[in-house]
Amino acid sequence: MGHIASASQLQRPEFASVNGELRPYDGVTIHISAEALTRSLSIFEGLKAYWDDDRTKLGLRSPEDHYRRLCRSARLLHIPVHFTYEEYVTWCSALIAALGSPSADIWIRTTMYVVEGHWGDGTRADLVITGFKQRFEPSPPMKVGVSTWRRSSDLSLPARIKASANYQVARLARMEGNARGLDDMILLNDHGRVAEGTGACLLIVRDGTVITPPASEGALESMTVEILKRIAAEDGIPVEVRPIDRSELYIADEAGMAGTISELTPLEEIDGYAMNTNGIVKYLRDEYLKLMRQRRVIKGVDFAWVAADSLTSR
Ligand code: PMP
Repeated sequence: MGHIASASQLQRPEFASVNGELRPYDGVTIHISAEALTRSLSIFEGLKAYWDDDRTKLGLRSPEDHYRRLCRSARLLHIPVHFTYEEYVTWCSALIAALGSPSADIWIRTTMYVVEGHWGDGTRADLVITGFKQRFEPSPPMKVGVSTWRRSSDLSLPARIKASANYQVARLARMEGNARGLDDMILLNDHGRVAEGTGACLLIVRDGTVITPPASEGALESMTVEILKRIAAEDGIPVEVRPIDRSELYIADEAGMAGTISELTPLEEIDGYAMNTNGIVKYLRDEYLKLMRQRRVIKGVDFAWVAADSLTSR
């Protein structure tokens, strides 16, 4: 997972979108005094657009849910949202048309940077949209550990706010993991129970039941988890949303990281405890990918379409 995210950051796409206007990527700047920098006031969403199997159209998954979660982050931080859902999805689609390529899926980051305002007075944000190519193949199983760093509590930096500042702890945890030769880390909350991964939610499987912690344990309200729950419900796989102790992680039969980029990546090891990577997690991952590539349809899982012939880049 770490390598995918860093690959995204290393790409230099041609364009970014600022409040709906396409601009050269290197020409998008931010002032040193913006609260986005001085107080880490930026919130974002990471969306993914998938090619269908025939490569006729790119489908941007759950755009309205992403817009609504961005609005919730903005509301919690008193950042006015100056664009409608229709504008949001139109601007995302225009960037996909400008950057999309038939040989890759694309990950879209929509970031609201607070560019004007002071301690809550006159707050104004820009919506900057960037896009990075993603390879078609899903991530291989990962080895992870439990970090010594903790997810901040709802009273300090709520997990529900998808703020860039929330990823400072995630970054420390990933660096801790890298030093231990691991692919990613799991963050516990202040009670020592499982919160989530550094950029994804955590699921475990015990005796055929999928278990995932609720948002109140310090997990982001995840769209991927909601979709996986719908697949499981259709396919008769029981799902429980409840707290998970650290020791329960180690006795789980299976585990996986669920998120827009991670999709559902099986975990082969947690702190050296081996997990089965060929069971329910892998099954759900495969069904999830069928859904993304339009080989399966589930009511309530929505896409915004960008047709292959509207791609302007080559
Ligand atoms: N937790 C964190 C910290 C994340 O960054 C993400 C990715 N957005 C998730 C969970 C999963 O959320 P989603 O399925 O909506 O991408």
